[in-house]
Amino acid sequence: MPQQDAAERIRNFEEVALGYDAATAVDEAERCLNCKNKPCVAGCPVNIDIPAFIELIKAGDFLGAARELKKTNSLPAICGRVCPQEEQCEKLCILGKKGEPVAIGRLERFAADYEAAHAPSTSSGCADGVKPENPDLAKYHVAVVGSGPAGLTVAGDLAKKGYSVTIFEALHKTGGVLRYGIPEFRLPRDILDREIHYVESLGAKIITDVIVGRTFTVEDLLSDGFDAVFVGTGAGAPKLLGIPGENLSGVYSGNEWLTRINLMRAHREEYATPIKIPKNACIIGAGNTAMDCARTALRVGAEQVTIVYRRSRTEMPARAEEIENAEHEGVIFKLLTNPKRFIGDEKGAVKAIECLRMELGEPDESGRRRPIPVENSEFIIEADTVIVALGQNPNPLIRTTTKGLKTESWGGIIIDPETGMTSIPGVFAGGDAVTGEATVISAMGAGKIAAEGIDKFIKKKYGLES
Ligand code: FAD
Ligand code: SF4
Repeated sequence: MPQQDAAERIRNFEEVALGYDAATAVDEAERCLNCKNKPCVAGCPVNIDIPAFIELIKAGDFLGAARELKKTNSLPAICGRVCPQEEQCEKLCILGKKGEPVAIGRLERFAADYEAAHAPSTSSGCADGVKPENPDLAKYHVAVVGSGPAGLTVAGDLAKKGYSVTIFEALHKTGGVLRYGIPEFRLPRDILDREIHYVESLGAKIITDVIVGRTFTVEDLLSDGFDAVFVGTGAGAPKLLGIPGENLSGVYSGNEWLTRINLMRAHREEYATPIKIPKNACIIGAGNTAMDCARTALRVGAEQVTIVYRRSRTEMPARAEEIENAEHEGVIFKLLTNPKRFIGDEKGAVKAIECLRMELGEPDESGRRRPIPVENSEFIIEADTVIVALGQNPNPLIRTTTKGLKTESWGGIIIDPETGMTSIPGVFAGGDAVTGEATVISAMGAGKIAAEGIDKFIKKKYGLES
C-alpha cells in the first residue's frame, strides 16, 4: 500500500496510508477465488458479503461495490481504514493459508472512497436509493445514547427500517472514539464527517451536548415517549497504574492527550487548548491508543518518543500495521519494562520514570505470557511528558443514574447477547459500554444485534408482524 514518506509525515497530520488506485484495486480483487462457502465472511462482525463486493470491483463496477458494502455496513470508508482485518476477515481468507490473504480492508476502503470521489451526492446523501423499508414505523421512537460506531450503527439500521431515531451525544461533536481518539492521520475528518452524514441522511437525528444521566436520564427518555433506548456510551474512563507520581503535571491519560489534540485541536495555533510540547515523551502501554499517543506526540514536535511496555513485541495488542508505522516514524520501543514510580521536579512536573525490567513467565488468563519483575533491576528513563495508555473502562454515569440496570463489577453493562437487551425491558446496550475497550467493528456488530432486538421488541409491544 503506498504511504506518505515517514520523514515527511511526522511533520504533518495528513493521512499516512494513501489507498489503491483503480488498476491496483482490480488486480488485487482478481486474486479473490470467490469461494462458495465464503470463509472470510465468518470473520466479519457485520457480515459483509465480501466475495460479492470484490466481484463487483473485478468487474469494474466500483459504485456497485460500495452499494454492496453499505447493505450491511454504513461506515465502510472508516472500517476500511481502522479495522484489524488481519485478525478478522483476512485471517480466514483461504489464500492466507499458503501466502498473502486478499487485502479485503484495502478493497473496502477503495470502493467507499471511489464512491465519495465519483458520486459524492450518493455517498453523503440518501440518494443511493435507500428508502425506509416500512414508513409506517416512523411513529415509533428510539433514543440512541452516544454517537460512536455502536450508536451510529443502531441508528442507521433502525432508520433504514423506518423508525424515528434520535441520537443524544454528550460532546459537541459526533463520532465517539472515531473523532476524539483515532487521529486524523489514520482517519481523516472529512471521511468521518461524510459517513456520519450518511447515517443522518438515512433519517437519524443527532442532538449534541446532551449528557444522558445529567441533562435527563434513561428513565426520562422512556417516560417521554421513546419506545426503546440504546446505550452506546463506550468506555471513556481511563485505567490508571496506581503508582506514585501519577498526579504530577505532565502525566496524562491516553484519552486526555488524544482529546486535547484530536477534538480540541491543541496543535493548531488558532485554538486555545493548552499543550506542552514534549522533549522526551514516554507512553506506557502498547495498544492502539498507545501507538496513537506516540505518533501524535511526534507530530506535535516531541524530540524523542518512547513506548514503555511490560511484555514483549509478540504480546503487543496494537494492530501490526500501526506498530510498524510507529517504528518507521522513529518511536523507540522499550519492551519488558514496567514503570515503578514517576519522579517529579521541585515544581511538581514529571522529569523521569523509575522502571523495572521484566521477564515473561507462563501465560495468564488473557492467554499472554505473564510479565514478572526482575529483582533489583531498577533504572531511570528521562521523561518530561508521560502518557498512560492502558485502556479504558465504561464511564459510571449511566450505571449510577439508571435504576435496575445490571452491570459487571468493572462497569460493563450486562445484556442478553441474542438481543442486546439489558436487565431493563426496552433498554438495550452494545459496544465498549458492554465489553470494555474493543474494536470499531465489534461495536458495530453489537449495534446490528441491538437494532434487530429493538425492532422485535417494538413489534411485539405493539402487536405488529415481525
Ligand atoms: P465510543 O466510540 O466510545 O462512543 C461512545 C460515545 O458515547 C462517545 O461519543 C461519548 O461521548 C458518548 N457518551 C458517553 N457517555 C454519554 C452520555 N452519558 N450521554 C451521551 N453521550 C455519551 N478500534 C479499531 O477497530 N481499530 C483501531 O484502529 C482503533 N484505534 C483506537 C484508538 C484509540 C485511541 C482508542 C481509544 C480506541 C481505538 N479503537 C480502535 C477502539 C474503538 O475505537 C472502540 O472500540 C469503539 O469506538 C467503540 O465504539 P462505541 O460506539 O462502543 O463507543
Ligand atoms: Fe476471496 Fe479470500 Fe473470501 Fe475466498 S476467503 S472469497 S479468496 S476473500
